[in-house]
Amino acid sequence: MKHPAFRYLFGPVPSRRFRRSLGIDLTPHKTCSLDCVFCQLGRTPQKTLERKAYVPTADVIDEIDHWLQTDGDADYLTLSGSGEPTLHADFGRVLAFLRDRPIPSVLLTNGTLLTLPDVREAAALADVVKVSLSAWDQKSFEWVNRPHRMLAFESVMDGLNQFRDGFDGRLWLEVFLLSGLNAMARDVEKIASLSRELKPDRVHLNTVVRPPAEDFAVAVPMTQLEALCDVFDPPAQIAAGFNSQRSTAIQANEATILAMLRRRPCKIEHIEAAFGMHINEVSKYLGALLKKDQIRSDWKNQAVYYAAK
Ligand code: SF4
Repeated sequence: MKHPAFRYLFGPVPSRRFRRSLGIDLTPHKTCSLDCVFCQLGRTPQKTLERKAYVPTADVIDEIDHWLQTDGDADYLTLSGSGEPTLHADFGRVLAFLRDRPIPSVLLTNGTLLTLPDVREAAALADVVKVSLSAWDQKSFEWVNRPHRMLAFESVMDGLNQFRDGFDGRLWLEVFLLSGLNAMARDVEKIASLSRELKPDRVHLNTVVRPPAEDFAVAVPMTQLEALCDVFDPPAQIAAGFNSQRSTAIQANEATILAMLRRRPCKIEHIEAAFGMHINEVSKYLGALLKKDQIRSDWKNQAVYYAAK
């Protein structure tokens, strides 16, 4: 069955960590408390800490309900997308709706709002919470994540640790490493030391694979990432790269591909794997979207990426 034109759901998209994950987007494009130099969504136009109902919660829940009844085939239901999901004042209501469903829920968060008790309580409703940590002090936080001016690294770490203490689900940690910025062995050791206090169930090392917000955000070579895995406890897994574990066909059309490209730029292989489609069919849809001027193609990192205009 074809997906109707959902406004707040996208995918399922393939992900190395979450296999096939249905994305749930709770914020307008690039609504975030950070402006990470590696962000694949581009620069944050205006950083915010304002929590409000950026999109109507009831409509999001209706879409999820409809999707569960008419499709329901994904490995994870993931709050992620165009910005920081915990900025949505009711993200806990969405997670509460996902409780006791057959598909586990995931919250992807930059962790900066876990300083707030309400946010910690709501986040604890997720089966998996994946937080990011790519800095070790205020200075490195400012180079790598360019936070909202009211955010202090120490308070953010304190919020993360408080969340860990009260959360009995799975906590995964993503460490995003960049050549020349935060990937020297001594710096990674400092991040690993903070990570040990946090006691994550898994650690993922990531680096640039899609066009980043800034050209100076340069990928760490795979051999270097591999050598850094054992610095972490538990030893880190490499998340960078692209992998689709399953290729169950998902009926896609121009609207579903456009929805995917609105969230992130993709190579043709990403779309092929996300929807289990033949490359010729993907080319047909991309050709039509290019003709209608709804997407553009960019040559970056020696590959062609498609993005919504
Ligand atoms: S990577 Fe995530 S946390 Fe960083 S600016 Fe982009 S959306 Fe925000």
